[in-house]
Amino acid sequence: ATPTAIMVGIGKGAESNILVKDAESLELGSKINAVVLDKTGTITEGKPTVTDSLWLIDSGDKASLESVLLALESKSEHPLAEAVVNYLTGSGVTPARLADFDSLTGQGVTGRYDGKTYLIGNRSLLAENQVSVPANVDNQVNMWESQAKTVVFFARAGQPVLAILAIADPIRPSAKQAVAELQQRGITVHMLTGDNARTAAAVAAQVGIERVQAGVLPADKAHFVEQLQRHGCTVAMVGDGINDAPALAQADVSMAMGRGADIALDVARMTLISTDLTSVPKALTLARKTVRTIR
Ligand code: ADP
Ligand code: MG
Repeated sequence: ATPTAIMVGIGKGAESNILVKDAESLELGSKINAVVLDKTGTITEGKPTVTDSLWLIDSGDKASLESVLLALESKSEHPLAEAVVNYLTGSGVTPARLADFDSLTGQGVTGRYDGKTYLIGNRSLLAENQVSVPANVDNQVNMWESQAKTVVFFARAGQPVLAILAIADPIRPSAKQAVAELQQRGITVHMLTGDNARTAAAVAAQVGIERVQAGVLPADKAHFVEQLQRHGCTVAMVGDGINDAPALAQADVSMAMGRGADIALDVARMTLISTDLTSVPKALTLARKTVRTIR
């Protein structure tokens, strides 16, 4: 049944840029006691830019390696790849011709050039390709990560790392307030990310989130939501990307952030058109008020 109250609730939501797909989302929305926020594109703006780089090679080799790096990231659809592409094309680099391009979810990308395998991605991709990171480089990485930056590693399989790039993605100005509003209502707030633990912790600290799951693959994001449900939580998941679709589908209430990937918008049963994260507590308040009117 769809009483008038639900219609009114849906109408009020639309006025505040909250699009509600069905009555059930409002019903469940009134019972939410855990909110899971994706990091990239949800807590952050999803507009990453390269802020620092460190090359660990003879300067004579840099130009051709930059071309290989550009070729790799040009073939990736990841937002981090776009940041690297903008950074390199901005300084006039043109892409090399790659063979055997491969994209590894949650890790990065690989490709072959001149008979050798090159890769760009995170530590787990390095480990799989026997790439070592010297201790002094590791220190630099840790420093950048503590500043909430994501560090990506460029390397040739079986060789020491060639370069590291630090990428910053600004935290949405509304994030801290949104988290505080949720917590004030006794809602537990979690952050999920495929990014590394140190960067994740730095972002979480800036917005007041204590519960963080880092290095999480897309399927594991859904699994995490399911675990919370098993422990008796009614869960709202807020995400933006392809990565988040399984978790959005698993959650009791799913919210896609404005201008998210089409798949996230398809799966989610509430769409937050504005990029203001306080729409999350607003949507839950709307649900509570609507349900109170019904009873
Ligand atoms: P998130 O959940 O934060 O959106 P992903 O699961 O998409 O993160 O990616 C996890 C990590 O894999 C990234 O933080 C990055 O270190 C690495 N990665 C994935 N794709 C790329 C790429 N194209 N270039 C560099 N690094 C990448
Ligand atoms: Mg994301």
